[in-house]
Amino acid sequence: MTETTPRRSLMTSLPAVLPMLAGMALLVAAVARWRESGWGALVWLVVVALMYVIRVPHTLRNRTNQIIDSRNDPIEQVLLTGMFLAMMVLPLVQVATRWFSFADYTLPDWATAVGAGIQVPFLWLFWRSHADLGRNWSPGLEVREDHGLITNGVYARVRHPMYAAIWMSTLAQPLLVHNWIGGALIVPAFAAMWFLRTPREEAMMRSRFGAAYDEYAARTGRLLPRLGR
Ligand code: SAH
Repeated sequence: MTETTPRRSLMTSLPAVLPMLAGMALLVAAVARWRESGWGALVWLVVVALMYVIRVPHTLRNRTNQIIDSRNDPIEQVLLTGMFLAMMVLPLVQVATRWFSFADYTLPDWATAVGAGIQVPFLWLFWRSHADLGRNWSPGLEVREDHGLITNGVYARVRHPMYAAIWMSTLAQPLLVHNWIGGALIVPAFAAMWFLRTPREEAMMRSRFGAAYDEYAARTGRLLPRLGR
């Protein structure tokens, strides 16, 4: 009986370890082969690495702030999976393997440079919105035990600066990874997330913060600052 325990624990950890190993193998292959996809692919790889550098400390720290209301229903899970595939997995597979080369398109260098340029304000706003949300940030639709309504910093005039940042990166990705599957698919994936998730997130915030959220919503814009303020 005691002999089977280590074997079983290895078997149960395999589903978690295998995707991680596959991801690392793809990453190594992508770094080795980026030239075949053009220099935009290298920019894309660096930006994704920086996104992780920005996000991982917040993921680790916020684990200590308990989730008390989660609205991560099947719709939300489909949206999040779609984003993960279109933003991370498919571009990485394309740059690493060139399997989707039948769906390549060509763009002039200046268009790739525009994509690279957009990633600069993206990274700044992505960093600032995580910093300003602090312990309140969640990747999904969640309210935490110690949840405050943030109305300062990049949240002072816009309610969704993190999504504004992700819109920038969404528009930049097809300019960097010249492929309909690995590059352009992010556009419908994030459009679906924006249109379906944003009203649900606002309803969740309203049910948690009531009049304070109504007042905040009245003086801010969803994606861009309100004109005339
Ligand atoms: N939509 C925001 C935040 C994205 S992160 C943006 O684009 O910047 C998603 C989580 O952030 C939500 O689950 C919610 O719990 C939290 N959140 C959103 N707006 C918030 C705010 N103004 N103050 C505190 N938490 C907020």
